[in-house]
Amino acid sequence: MHYLVLTTGSCGNCYIFSTGEDTIIIDDGVTYRKITEKMAERGISTSSIRALFLTHLHPDHSKGVGVLQRKLGIPVYISSVSNARNQSILMRQKIEREMLRTYEFGETIEVPGFSVTPFPTSHDSDGSAGYSFSSGGREYFLMTDTGVVPDEAWEPARRADVEFIEANYDDGMLDGGSYPEFLKQRIRGERGHLSNAVAMDFAKRTAERGNSLYFVHLSANNNTPQIVRDLARREVPSGIFCKVCERGELFEGFTDEEE
Ligand SMILES: [Zn+2]
Ligand SMILES: [Zn+2]
Repeated sequence: MHYLVLTTGSCGNCYIFSTGEDTIIIDDGVTYRKITEKMAERGISTSSIRALFLTHLHPDHSKGVGVLQRKLGIPVYISSVSNARNQSILMRQKIEREMLRTYEFGETIEVPGFSVTPFPTSHDSDGSAGYSFSSGGREYFLMTDTGVVPDEAWEPARRADVEFIEANYDDGMLDGGSYPEFLKQRIRGERGHLSNAVAMDFAKRTAERGNSLYFVHLSANNNTPQIVRDLARREVPSGIFCKVCERGELFEGFTDEEE
């Protein structure tokens, strides 16, 4: 598997997973030009894209989806709740009706090369989701934009070979920062974002098998990559691969297929 954190953070989120033959995308908060250029640079063909899965419909995760869907004719998957509650956003994106596919949480979706199982997250966008999926005998896990760790996340994260976990804010920076009180409450609320402390606790408790860890979706104002790196160094057992993905930067990784 060849995977890209194409970009992450409030400036846009997009994750790409490719077996070479088949590719899925999770979230598309970037322009068509950016996604196609970056894929071409890294040798992933747009004709291999089989499906796009959305975590939720905030613009940093979804603003490119309509154009990408129409240009490439690919299916877009969201939860049935997200579909029902976000009709106006979906209309604006002009996703072709027959290519919009909805699922129920816990259901497994088979697309060429991948078995994808969504789980619910807790965020201020109704029907928001995280994803676990398997491909080539390996397991992957992605959870961002959630105020709390959902019960459903533990088991697939423990099973995963590679985990992508939101580490959004440092408690002290958020408390002492310049955001108005209502915004601070939104971020640390049950339907907000994951703090570094909660993310790190989840990471170390799920990575016991030696899972690779990527920390993503860091806040520009309430966090720094160095804080997350220092925390990971203290909390995550040495020997576990750990990468802090800086806002807006591209990260690339590879996993071998299981023998
Ligand atoms: Zn969001
Ligand atoms: Zn977000």
